[in-house]
Amino acid sequence: MSDEKQTGMPLHFRILIALVIGTVVGIAINPGAINLPDEQIAAELEIQANESGTDQTVDIKESTGFESIRRRFQSREKLNAALPQGSAGVTASGFPASMIAVTERAVHIVEAAGSITIDYTRKHNGQPVATTLKVGAASELPEHWREFHSKHGGGTKRMLSAVAKYGGDLFLRLLKMITVPLIVTSLITGVAGLNNTSSFGAMFSRTLIYYGITSMLAITTGLLIVNLVQPGIGADLPGGTEAVLAGGEQTLSGILLGLIDNMIPTNPLLALVDSNFLSIITFSIIFGVFIVRTGGETARVLREFFQATFDVMMRLTMAIISLAPLGVFCFMVYATSSQGLAIFGTLAWYMLAVFLALAVHAGITLPLIVKFVAKRSPVEFARAMSPALMTAFSTASSNGTLPLTMTCVEERANVPNRISSFVLPLGATINMDGTALYEAVAVLFIAQAYHGDVSIASQIVVAITALLASVGAAGIPHAGLVMMAIVLQAVNLPLEAQGIIIAVDRVLDMCRTSVNVWSDSCGCAVIAGMDNSASDVVE
Ligand code: ASP
Repeated sequence: MSDEKQTGMPLHFRILIALVIGTVVGIAINPGAINLPDEQIAAELEIQANESGTDQTVDIKESTGFESIRRRFQSREKLNAALPQGSAGVTASGFPASMIAVTERAVHIVEAAGSITIDYTRKHNGQPVATTLKVGAASELPEHWREFHSKHGGGTKRMLSAVAKYGGDLFLRLLKMITVPLIVTSLITGVAGLNNTSSFGAMFSRTLIYYGITSMLAITTGLLIVNLVQPGIGADLPGGTEAVLAGGEQTLSGILLGLIDNMIPTNPLLALVDSNFLSIITFSIIFGVFIVRTGGETARVLREFFQATFDVMMRLTMAIISLAPLGVFCFMVYATSSQGLAIFGTLAWYMLAVFLALAVHAGITLPLIVKFVAKRSPVEFARAMSPALMTAFSTASSNGTLPLTMTCVEERANVPNRISSFVLPLGATINMDGTALYEAVAVLFIAQAYHGDVSIASQIVVAITALLASVGAAGIPHAGLVMMAIVLQAVNLPLEAQGIIIAVDRVLDMCRTSVNVWSDSCGCAVIAGMDNSASDVVE
């Protein structure tokens, strides 16, 4: 790659170094649970106390775990009843003045850790009152609390973490900026470059078969390992938290029909504007096929136009990709500095089961397929794909990584564009081995925690719904967690159970996204290996 020549160090090494340094810096600046300066809290409390006309003060002791304050104080009446005699009562927001300050501070932490419990001593009329305050996800909290947070969110460490997130997001924006034009020009160039469209049909069916088989293999691996490790047996899941994610209202048939609807855009321009990948893919393929069918001068002009646009897009992509080490560094700082560390203990076995299953699929199953079906060295192929895999790991977005995946597959792994331009965008949308595996492990973990052993029949339902959920999940961070509602619903598990696993989702998301991208890339190698239509390409 040209940028490698400039700096002398291969891109994947630079990304790896950025990843390691970002992790170390992130851990070093992890602000922990409480980090608002004491003076700030004291000042805030003073204001609150003056407003409420009492002498309440708060002394925060520690913070761990989470639940929802709303469960405890759902109404103003309940809240008033819970307050000590003679306290100020509730404010307009429905919470006592003294609690607001504490909760604002909690919001500050919730945004980073996803959850919080604060044990604190409140002085009421000179008497200490021990209280536990529990807060759910930041997104559940009233707007004015979040405003408070953005106004007063202090602490240098927190600021560094926020700056890192902003930097990472900028990199992701750049990648997203080029994704749609890259897919369109790449697909049309790829399909229009075929001399006859029947070779395209063969590639299409092979790709779908590859996606189906590898996703089912991933799910089977997940089920085997979760039955072996049994992470849910004896796990103490807090019952009925309120951290329920959207998406539970979707049914299986709804997802399937939605996918088919998505494949046929009523307005292709709208699909482009909305970045609706499935619609864009279908329309670009149809357009490319009809360029071939039209033939003659028209086809020549259009081929040249799209090829030229595609060349420009590739140059632009390479330029943006040279910033990958910076983006990866920022994301790693953010991920490691914002993750609450205490939760890792509670969910250690669950995380281990997910890691193990992902490792088996990515490290054994897929390499065997690359070796025996694609007839390539899996190690060399993985080395070629490493910049994309590390970017997938740090961004947790296969859509975001797509431009990099395409570049690596074509430039470093020498897969022809007519294959990668079709296999990769489709794969980023519907082929998610890591997500499918993760859905299966997570739901069985929850099922084990609630019910002990899980019947084979239920496990089959989990397997099928996990496949559909992975097909329906978008290639963006945490999409798999949102789609999990479908699998939970299919086996009658409470959606609330997701509450506990949200806290560690980011790190698992990073791993499963790398596996998603790795599987798509291996798909390219397999289809290229089986492809004997090189002579069909228009030179
Ligand atoms: N983040 C994953 C991806 O982009 C999807 C998921 O949440 O599982 O591939």
